[in-house]
Amino acid sequence: MKYAIIIPDGAADEPIAELGGKTPLEAANIPNMDRIAMEGRQGTAQTVPRSMESGSDVAIMSLLGYDPMAYHTGRAPLEAAAQNIPLEPSDWVLRCNLVTVIDGIMKDHSAGGITNAEARTLIEDLARDLPLDGFEFHCGVSYRNLLVYRGHEQFDLTTAPPHDIPEQPISRHLPRGKGSELLRRIMERSAELFAAHEINEARRSTNLNAATQVWLWGQGHAPSLPRFAERFGIKSGCMITAVDLLRGLAVLLGWDTKEVAGMTSFHDTNYAGQGQMTAAMLDQYDLVFSHVEAPDEASHQADFKTKIEAIEHIDKFIVGPVLEKLRTFPQWRILVMPDHATNISTRKHGYAPTPFAMAGTRVRGLVPAAYNERNASASDLQIRRGHELMEYFLRSGT
Ligand SMILES: [Zn+2]
Repeated sequence: MKYAIIIPDGAADEPIAELGGKTPLEAANIPNMDRIAMEGRQGTAQTVPRSMESGSDVAIMSLLGYDPMAYHTGRAPLEAAAQNIPLEPSDWVLRCNLVTVIDGIMKDHSAGGITNAEARTLIEDLARDLPLDGFEFHCGVSYRNLLVYRGHEQFDLTTAPPHDIPEQPISRHLPRGKGSELLRRIMERSAELFAAHEINEARRSTNLNAATQVWLWGQGHAPSLPRFAERFGIKSGCMITAVDLLRGLAVLLGWDTKEVAGMTSFHDTNYAGQGQMTAAMLDQYDLVFSHVEAPDEASHQADFKTKIEAIEHIDKFIVGPVLEKLRTFPQWRILVMPDHATNISTRKHGYAPTPFAMAGTRVRGLVPAAYNERNASASDLQIRRGHELMEYFLRSGT
């Protein structure tokens, strides 16, 4: 059996007045996703437990079949795995975002989607300026960098994800708890150092958001996940994504990762290239997992037009070709679902159960209806513990 899983990150949403009360999924033209729901079935899965913070780290772990309540140790440790940063059990990893803060207000958690090269220069300048014992900076993709701590401080921290506090005063959300002074010092120093940095001067002159400081959050120790092959008996897996934390999950699961030229976290990504790569990898791997960040980023910008376009591009350039490829194999299954909702109205990740659609060999059709939040919630298939969906997808009816 060949399995394909396609994740339009953050695609689920609430009804939007400007769309005549439709959600972006309902407003989008998505014939391939609709076909999967109609030939197969749709339902919802609670990928984010109520007691946890809604984000791709928790939600993707859950939809991969791992209970985040048992296995999740933070977002940053997953990204460290992606970068093959070795971690001792006592080491801490934190996310080190480049963000835009203006007059004390969090304006942009991504510093305008700053380029890798610009981000690297800023982070390296900060690291040089701040020779703090035990801290190591690691550059990631765009605004997503990491700070590793190998010192003796026993942290007990509360931090805030910067994408969850848009337009809010940062003073209310600074790191708190044991060891937090150290983190606040790093954040304050970055603000001083970046204020008149030439990279920011250049960004402002072209109307791009400046990276005014780093924002530290998402701390944790390294997690210990059983490999996917051991857990589910699927021998080989491959993940295609532009996001480090997903690559890290792939590394921890024992999967390979594949790069696609021009693949980004935004709507400028190479959808067609990712679709071709996902289809091609099905020849080599039993399971291919293809993740697209663009709908989530558009939601954080409250840009529902781009969100709809991103969903339509995923349908046309990824789901379509993958479905066509799968039909050349004697046995196959496909699952399409966002990891979590990201709501245009709040620009934040939501907690609503996530709509999924699946089809393929021995997946009997249920109620034929277009794929969207409303129809998925009306289905009989409501999976309350999101991590049980994977077993259902891989084995139901077999
Ligand atoms: Zn997001």
